[in-house]
Amino acid sequence: MDQKPPSIDFENGFCMSIDGLKVICDKGIDVINPATEQLVGVAPDCSAEMLDEAVNAARKAFPEWRSATHETRANALELIAEKLEENVEPLGVLLTREQGKPLADARMEIARSALWFRHFAKCQLSIEHRISPEGRKVEIRRVPVGVVGAITPWNFPINLATWKLAPALLAGNTVVLKPSPFTPLTTLKIGELLLDVLPPGVLNVVSGGDHLGPRMSEHLGLDKIAFTGSTATGRAVMRSASVNLKRVTLELGGNDPAIVLPDVDVEETAEKMFWAAFRNCGQVCVAAKRIYVHDAIYDQFAAAMANLARTFQPSNGEAPGARIGPVQNRVQYQRVQELIEDSRRAGYKFLSEPGDMKGPGYFIAPTIIDNPPDDSRIVLEEPFGPVVPLLRFSDIDDVIRRANDSEFGLSGSVWSKNVEVARSIATRLDCGTVWINAAQVLMPSVPFGGRKQSGVGVENGDEGLCEFTSLHVTVE
Ligand code: NAD
Repeated sequence: MDQKPPSIDFENGFCMSIDGLKVICDKGIDVINPATEQLVGVAPDCSAEMLDEAVNAARKAFPEWRSATHETRANALELIAEKLEENVEPLGVLLTREQGKPLADARMEIARSALWFRHFAKCQLSIEHRISPEGRKVEIRRVPVGVVGAITPWNFPINLATWKLAPALLAGNTVVLKPSPFTPLTTLKIGELLLDVLPPGVLNVVSGGDHLGPRMSEHLGLDKIAFTGSTATGRAVMRSASVNLKRVTLELGGNDPAIVLPDVDVEETAEKMFWAAFRNCGQVCVAAKRIYVHDAIYDQFAAAMANLARTFQPSNGEAPGARIGPVQNRVQYQRVQELIEDSRRAGYKFLSEPGDMKGPGYFIAPTIIDNPPDDSRIVLEEPFGPVVPLLRFSDIDDVIRRANDSEFGLSGSVWSKNVEVARSIATRLDCGTVWINAAQVLMPSVPFGGRKQSGVGVENGDEGLCEFTSLHVTVE
């Protein structure tokens, strides 16, 4: 099969994309491969002046982009999808090197991003006409918000950028995108790749250290912040976004419960649960983070999970057959180790051990803690790494209470052969999404968002598209 050669320039380092141009900086930030602790590349460290340039470019591009035809914008999204599909391999390799995830997962992340662009290319913002009870003719349109600042975390840098870019651009907004300083490189390359797809200023990609996110959420030239990251940072974004009443979408942390009923096929469900907890090395907002297993099958289920944990040891994501990579960065590695140590100090039993992997690389083997108390840190906190508590239950009402007893409310799952029973439990869980006999099923057409401290607003689906618009109403 003929494959187009990749159009990525890997020779000349990494640059930002501002106003249709490649921009470099005097200062840079080192990006480290978490499997080797070697340098992958140096990302530009965007100054305050350069951020102003990016925001001004996006403002300048906005009038023309918002008045472009729907077809023009939809075609641009299709072209972006094509570019991503043509470059799955080089982008996937770069993503594995900076993020750590297995190469197969990195390729999938790029391919799934293309799928998102294709989905939103087919979406329309409809105009609604109503007659009010008073007999007035009412027309309700959705208009773009303006210039969107998109801020992404390090666990799925490309997917989570896409969830923002595709609907924002389709709705007629222009964007300044900022990836995490831990994983900026693939996003920067995609920005470069799209320079000849989008008009100058429609998409600007900037990178930088800890100063850059706060500067964006305070920036008076941005009209909305679409943010994915931790709950603590989400609160800071909301505070600083208030300076000009920016709209915000906040996709934040989770501590997702999974409830496993006694009628499941134990081996099969344990395997699904293992991956629900340890995919992407547990660094998934919607990972199963508290696994409640019915007393009648607990011991058998625990043995099956422990067996899988021993089988799937972490390795460099580029190693053949890799299924679990390292923790993405040193700070997170230390945080996860600290939580594991806390469980050890408290005397909890371990069903599988973190291992003692001497460096280089931030490797921790899948670690399962055996039935720690509900008020333990490992149950209350989001570890965001390869450690999970397995918890016994015997009463349905009680386990629903325990599952809901969390400041978070992102997602959850219920596992049973009796789908009716599972559904009735699902409706009682205080989370944005509940999966039945499945986990982490995310689709571009289905809205996704958190309740309680897990977020504000939604992404994906028509509802997510509408979050990049304001209502414009005319009354006759
Ligand atoms: P983080 O909050 O540390 O950083 C996220 C992004 O915010 C980064 O780009 C960072 O540079 C930027 N940032 C930092 N301080 C900022 C500030 N004051 N203002 C604006 N931006 C700022 O999160 P992380 O460690 O990169 O990601 C892990 C967290 O993200 C976990 O809690 C996880 O659950 C959450 N997450 C949520 C979802 C979701 O959809 N709900 C998806 C993935 C990850």
